[in-house]
Amino acid sequence: MLTRGNSIIKGIETTEIVKLLNRAYADEWLAYYQYFTEAKVIKGIMKDAVFAELTQHANDELRHANMIADRIVQLGGTPLLNPTEWATHTNCGYEEPKNFDVVAILEDSIKGEQCAISTYSSLADIVKDKDIITYNMVSQILADEVEHEADLQDLHDDITEFVEHIKSTMR
Ligand code: FE
Ligand code: FE
Ligand code: MG
Repeated sequence: MLTRGNSIIKGIETTEIVKLLNRAYADEWLAYYQYFTEAKVIKGIMKDAVFAELTQHANDELRHANMIADRIVQLGGTPLLNPTEWATHTNCGYEEPKNFDVVAILEDSIKGEQCAISTYSSLADIVKDKDIITYNMVSQILADEVEHEADLQDLHDDITEFVEHIKSTMR
């Protein structure tokens, strides 16, 4: 799109930004689906607390996909049009839940968030001082991913400590 808004981008091609954003867009849809599915299949101790967190994160990932798609369009690009492209464009892949126990589900999700943090941190480095608007959006998403990891790690630590405590009282 030939807009003044896009003319302020310096030192990087908008097509390059679109390419990188489409990869992140694929990640967000897969992250959304991962949380959505995990919330359906999760089993075990304190599962209600974990369910609430997974559901909240699913909503956040869908909101991220929405933010990224809007920015891609603003840059004159097209968001990936076919869900089959999510698998071929993703940075972080998809961690299919195989073990439905709360602790295993939390560990899969923590891995996903750690990859998201690395991805957005690199993306922020790439667009910094070149595309302020994308940089600002990526920073907001990055802050959410950092919060996601911390929330999941807290739950993981609470549950594993609780299980250890129960085990010690049974000895
Ligand atoms: Fe996200
Ligand atoms: Fe996240
Ligand atoms: Mg949370």
